Amino acid sequence: MEKMYFSRLSSDAKSIVNEIEGHIRKEISIKLGSNQFASVNVNSAVISIPNSDYFSDGPILHELLHLKRYYLEGVAQVEVYDLFRDKVHKDCVNYIDNDIEHLAIIPIEVAMYPQRREYWMSAVRENITELELIRKNNLIGGDVISRNFNTIFRWIFLRHIIKDYELEARVKSLLESFGAVEKAIQLDGIVASNLPKEVFVREICDFYEFSTDRISLKYASGKEMTLTKYFQPSVVEESNSYSL
Ligand SMILES: [Zn+2]
Repeated sequence: MEKMYFSRLSSDAKSIVNEIEGHIRKEISIKLGSNQFASVNVNSAVISIPNSDYFSDGPILHELLHLKRYYLEGVAQVEVYDLFRDKVHKDCVNYIDNDIEHLAIIPIEVAMYPQRREYWMSAVRENITELELIRKNNLIGGDVISRNFNTIFRWIFLRHIIKDYELEARVKSLLESFGAVEKAIQLDGIVASNLPKEVFVREICDFYEFSTDRISLKYASGKEMTLTKYFQPSVVEESNSYSL
């Protein structure tokens, strides 16, 4: 990571940077000009942020934890293979990956930096307010699947990660309005069973009747990245190795 950024991090975050960079033998790049996210690429590990003012320990630690899971722990990253697939399907799959990863990452993040709990609470609060507006105005909000998916995962997030009872009650009321309480309880049971990510993704896709024929699981570890089309093992597809 460039010195001008690295020097602004806490020692905890610095040691995670060193750990990742030592493993992949590349520098983590900071890219400006877009939303905050981390990307695991064939040739680089990148953390994107809107501008340099946005560079601060909390958000960067969050993205570093994403990268650590993919690179060091070898956790699969869910991707949509076919970019021309309908947008709702694509968004939901992207949510699946992010939501699953957040169930693992945010408890670590909050344990390291307790002030991040307030950040996540206000992010969920904002999300709930949007969903309440959709309910109030009787809007569909994308489509029913993505609206319900979003509501259910906010509920699970609050139950398992943030544990705020007032917000949880607001989401529960949304679930009741959307007729999604039963589905939420079922999905909560899947989350509680602590499955490996591959099985978990399959369960969620089956649960929502999402087709998995356009989903791939990408693994990045060591100095090689392999792209495996996990959900179609019978089809001979790309199984390429790239240098990182
Ligand atoms: Zn994240």
